[in-house]
Amino acid sequence: MARRTRFVDSDILIVGGGFGGCGATYESRYWGRDLKIVLVEKANVERSGAVAQGLSAINCYMGMQWGENQPEDFVRYARGDLMGLVREDLVYDIARHVDSTVHKFEEWGLPIIKNPETGRYLREGKWQIMIHGESYKPIVAEAARKSATEVYNRIMVTHLLMDGTQPNRIAGAVGFNVRNGDFYVFRAKAVIVGAGGGSHIYRPRSVGEGMGRTWYAPWSTASAYGLLIPTGATMTQMENRIVLARFKDGYGPVGAWFLLLKSHATNAAGEMYEADRFPEIKARVGNYADIQPMPTCLRNHAMIEEIKAGKGPIYMHTQHVLDTKEKEELGWEDFLDMTIGQAVVWAAQNIDPKETPSELITSEPYVMGSHATCSGAWASGPEDCAPADYQWGYNRMTTVQGLFGAGDTIGGSAHKFSAGSFTEGRLAGKAAVRYVMDMKADAPRVDEAQIKKLKETVYKPLENYRVGRNEIVAGTVAPSYITPLHGLQRLEKIMDEYVGGYSMFYVTSDALLNRGLELLEMLTEDFENIGAEDLHQLQRAWELQHRILTAESVTRHTLFRKETRWPGYYYRADHPKLDDADWHVFTGSQYDPKTREWKMSKLPVHRIVEGFELLRT
Ligand SMILES: Cc1cc2nc3c(=O)[nH]c(=O)nc-3n(C[C@H](O)[C@H](O)[C@H](O)COP(=O)(O)OP(=O)(O)OC[C@H]3O[C@@H](n4cnc5c(N)ncnc54)[C@H](O)[C@@H]3O)c2cc1C
Repeated sequence: MARRTRFVDSDILIVGGGFGGCGATYESRYWGRDLKIVLVEKANVERSGAVAQGLSAINCYMGMQWGENQPEDFVRYARGDLMGLVREDLVYDIARHVDSTVHKFEEWGLPIIKNPETGRYLREGKWQIMIHGESYKPIVAEAARKSATEVYNRIMVTHLLMDGTQPNRIAGAVGFNVRNGDFYVFRAKAVIVGAGGGSHIYRPRSVGEGMGRTWYAPWSTASAYGLLIPTGATMTQMENRIVLARFKDGYGPVGAWFLLLKSHATNAAGEMYEADRFPEIKARVGNYADIQPMPTCLRNHAMIEEIKAGKGPIYMHTQHVLDTKEKEELGWEDFLDMTIGQAVVWAAQNIDPKETPSELITSEPYVMGSHATCSGAWASGPEDCAPADYQWGYNRMTTVQGLFGAGDTIGGSAHKFSAGSFTEGRLAGKAAVRYVMDMKADAPRVDEAQIKKLKETVYKPLENYRVGRNEIVAGTVAPSYITPLHGLQRLEKIMDEYVGGYSMFYVTSDALLNRGLELLEMLTEDFENIGAEDLHQLQRAWELQHRILTAESVTRHTLFRKETRWPGYYYRADHPKLDDADWHVFTGSQYDPKTREWKMSKLPVHRIVEGFELLRT
């Protein structure tokens, strides 16, 4: 069937209308009054991305107006939590601007909870503030909608376009409308990718119809990485994937319980396992164990060891802290604003949190660069504070000319969360405007042949299905194609069993990783024969492709880093110790789509903020 091709030209194209994308759209308009700014989103910006369901806290707010924290404090915190490895220039840049973002959110109508005694924002913890956040996403999306020249909803971007005459320059993106199947070619002078991190790369703990019950949104399909990797952009810290301690079965957040309500967790016998395990943790990671608060991965490690020793279930003792009506409401609202499924688990399992403790567990791993870990693209830093090694022209530009990123897309700078991702979008938007203005009228040249080839590639899964289904004699298993769901389950199983998923207690090794790569190679070959029965499955097919590329990147980075830097996130059984002498570095990779080769490298860690004496073993 002939598909219509629609061409959309712009100065700045923003791919993904989540928190990074909305920030980028808003700020691009501010600096680029006369520019054509186009936002493209695979769902609908109104309720898309990881914040679609709402949030109950903004996890990154300094409170500089009240002298609560300074950006330097935040850099020290992020550095400690990541066992020494963060891009301090990027973290600092977000910290110094994030408060103004939060103030805008409040101006736009986001209800931020106030402390009745001080009149300040109610703190959940040192960096977090509490919000009534069910409508957080629509409020923020409105600002982006008003700023964009055009918003294209329901377009799944499948590939980025490269310039026909300059090999390392971006030229736009292609994708298809998931409702009517039209093919879209977006030509742009600069592209900002904010397409979000990845769930369902590893086998989830949930089974069967609970498959959508993952911690990171099931529609976060790693496009932030899957789109960038084939352009040859340098990626960093892809091995630094995240595992979260969460309420069991619903993935409800623990932050408000630990930090605001001051609840505590014990093993089944009521023992404070984290404190008990401190000597073992100290022996494993040395001085890093003394960091306050204890790094997230080490707290996970204590829980994992406890469960391995048969001392579970691990319990959060909610019943000890819900002593007032207000606190009880706050506890429920924490879930109802953000992870409704957890409140449903309470109801379904007859758990009254006032009476009964709730189980905690560690999740399967996710790949993302905006939460507590650092996966993503290697990006140029801010001019005034990035060391020379971290700077090649424009803030948040990747190693590809004109290709910028924000939120989960950008690596090396964890703990951005929602407000930080929006802030990073703003920084990328401002820099992209400057890039476009510096270029003047120099529009990219997109080669017709490239577009024709991509169009054939994008719809091939529909063709595979159309032809292949005739070979089915009974049931649904076809001899010559796999479905997106088959491919996804195979990917999750490989990653789980060979690249340190939950069923292996997050353990892997050289031998396991190499075998995992062999199996991923076969899956990549089979992707050529994926079959999609309709446009929805076509979207699933391309989401799978982004996940497979991301998975291979994670596997190669994990193989490259020969140490266990973040016990609790993953373990290299053959290199069980943290090794600062050789591995106090970022990992880097560059993929060549023509040869399918990956070039791995070590990238330097520079300090820009004092106060690191304690670290390094
Ligand atoms: C359960 C949960 C709890 C969280 N809790 C908190 C919290 O309490 N406080 C806090 O501050 N932060 C929290 N976060 C983190 C916060 O949501 C993220 O840091 C932030 O959303 C990341 O922004 P982003 O733009 O990178 O990704 P997203 O906001 O996820 O946006 C990505 C966008 O890209 C779109 N997209 C993806 N692929 C494509 C494609 N191929 N083509 C077109 N569009 C595409 C998606 O539909 C989406 O709209 C939480 C996240 C989750 C999932």
